[in-house]
Amino acid sequence: MNEKKFPLAKDRLEELSKKYPTPFYLYDEKAIRENARRIIKAFSPFPAFKEHFAVKACPNPFIIKILAEEGFGADCSSLPELLLADMAGIKGEDIMLTSNETPAKEYIKARELGAIINLDDFTHIAFLEKTFSSLPELVSFRYNPGPLKEGNAIIGKPEEAKYGFTREQLIEGYKLLKAKGVKRFGLHTMVASNELSLDYHLETGRLLFELAVEIKNKCGVSIEFVNLGGGLGIPYRPEQEALSWEVLAAELKKLYDSIIVPSGLGGMGIHTEYGRPITGPYGWLVARALHSKHIYREYIGLDACMADLMRPALYGAYHHITISGKENASGTETYDIVGSLCENNDKFAVQRKLPKIETAAEAAGGGNTDGGDFVIIHDAGAHGRAMGFNYNGKLRCGELLLRCDGSVIQIRRPETIDDYFATLNPEDLDKF
Ligand SMILES: *Cc1c(COP(=O)(O)O)cnc(C)c1O
Repeated sequence: MNEKKFPLAKDRLEELSKKYPTPFYLYDEKAIRENARRIIKAFSPFPAFKEHFAVKACPNPFIIKILAEEGFGADCSSLPELLLADMAGIKGEDIMLTSNETPAKEYIKARELGAIINLDDFTHIAFLEKTFSSLPELVSFRYNPGPLKEGNAIIGKPEEAKYGFTREQLIEGYKLLKAKGVKRFGLHTMVASNELSLDYHLETGRLLFELAVEIKNKCGVSIEFVNLGGGLGIPYRPEQEALSWEVLAAELKKLYDSIIVPSGLGGMGIHTEYGRPITGPYGWLVARALHSKHIYREYIGLDACMADLMRPALYGAYHHITISGKENASGTETYDIVGSLCENNDKFAVQRKLPKIETAAEAAGGGNTDGGDFVIIHDAGAHGRAMGFNYNGKLRCGELLLRCDGSVIQIRRPETIDDYFATLNPEDLDKF
């Protein structure tokens, strides 16, 4: 069990929504910081540890800056993500570029920032050499274990995944880098997404540790760090259990002590690229119930839609929903909670038992979104606002931060119609 709580009471939300109309995302700074500290403490028995926060999960520089203050780095996969990490104050090798089908300009920016470059493919060794006059001092490779590792629902089977080097290519690759004068080496993999099984993550650790030893033996190369990637799940459903950072780190340390230490690689560092468990449980999408509709099913229409949070529509993902002020009321109704997009999969919840919801249309007699219950969509802090889009002329909502002192600030304003038209030039249209 994990309790689905929202940090603000209904009267506070009423007050807040006068200044910042719904929908909006709200993140809890205190909870993010406490979780980050737990992670760093849990992994402290390793000779070196660095969590490179996967920027794509929550690409807001305020959030990244909070994480940087707690000692996290950043994992980036695009030029704008590199710029976000830099903007948030993350420097040098605390930034890792794990991208694929990488354009030269990303490598150039990464190198300018002194970031760790993690290559996705063997051919990128030559591509790097063409891009720069010399190879960087430190290079990391992404490993794709293929049939050696089972995949999971979101990311698929490794042998069908487009990422990474085969085992043979890795061995060849490290030999080649060594011959070309590269001095420092990293090893990375990312094989799962939203995986809650401890054993799965330990197996990934074992796989990389054994591979680091094999690379040492076959290539005469000492791996400086292994990066276990991201993919650690969170308990979206109340009946699920979170993975314990303490147990994960302690079990990984046992594997490390039995595989890495005897091989003479004992100073090797552990890096991770977690995104979802870093911000996911500490962010909520807050919307208002706008309309109710009674046809073959009972519908509640929100002022948010899948352009604000795509996971339910994209993966059929479960997001827990509570109604502000009715947390303890019983689920007497069965609703489909939907958005306004002209796509029938724009549903935050299907046939969900919830307390009776009052809509703005009922409260105000229609027309506006004052009044009506606040619908809180939980665990939206990662891969939430980040996946937003503008299809159907939808404008993405803003982001608020609940500070440690209880105050609330806006850390991204909502999009405006002007933003939507910013890429069009009406003067060209007049001449057309
Ligand atoms: C998406 C991604 C992550 C983060 O994944 P989470 O599931 O959010 O932890 C880390 N590394 C890479 C390469 C990714 O693509």
